[in-house]
Amino acid sequence: MSGTIDSQSLEQTRPNQNQDIVYVGYRRRGRAVVEKQPGQEVTPEPSLKLANHSPSGFSWGYSGSGPAQLALALLLDYTGDEDVSLAHYTAFKNEVVSQLDCSHPEGYWRLTGSDIENALRELSDLDARIENDPYPEQEAVLVIETTGQRSYAYHETNQDGDQLCPVNHDGLTQLPRTEAQAQRYAPCQFCHRIRRANEEVTSQ
Ligand SMILES: [Zn+2]
Repeated sequence: MSGTIDSQSLEQTRPNQNQDIVYVGYRRRGRAVVEKQPGQEVTPEPSLKLANHSPSGFSWGYSGSGPAQLALALLLDYTGDEDVSLAHYTAFKNEVVSQLDCSHPEGYWRLTGSDIENALRELSDLDARIENDPYPEQEAVLVIETTGQRSYAYHETNQDGDQLCPVNHDGLTQLPRTEAQAQRYAPCQFCHRIRRANEEVTSQ
């Protein structure tokens, strides 16, 4: 079983998409409260049966156990599909839940069904790009070491370990490709094309 799900099966699992659903989160006397509007509280219990990260409750705004539990609970509540939720919640935590904050004037965050749909679609695209990557896994690639950044790419290198494309980033770090992909970096499309072009030249 692969841990990824293509966009076609995502659609098949949710015939009754409801993009009008709105989730809100706020803190009440120190407790993190999440509601599906209007006024229906989302609790950790259903998601704890799938994975137990944080029996003490939800959190958001960073990558940790409380945000992991919230990511799983939101996907499970929204999709009603355990497999989809388990396949995507770690990335959903990194890409979405770690970014939530209560900077709204009334002190809550808000996430719509459309937001969740869009995030799941982007994560599926990322999965497809990682899975279609034909290059040797043991090679080192370059990544930017950041936390909480929304878009990830890894860069191919030449024999000297320099990146192939001219995209200018500070602080690139070498990682084995398998590790970069486990952290859900996808190939830089520019590097990808340069490398393919070079391979065509040398194979002639
Ligand atoms: Zn690149």
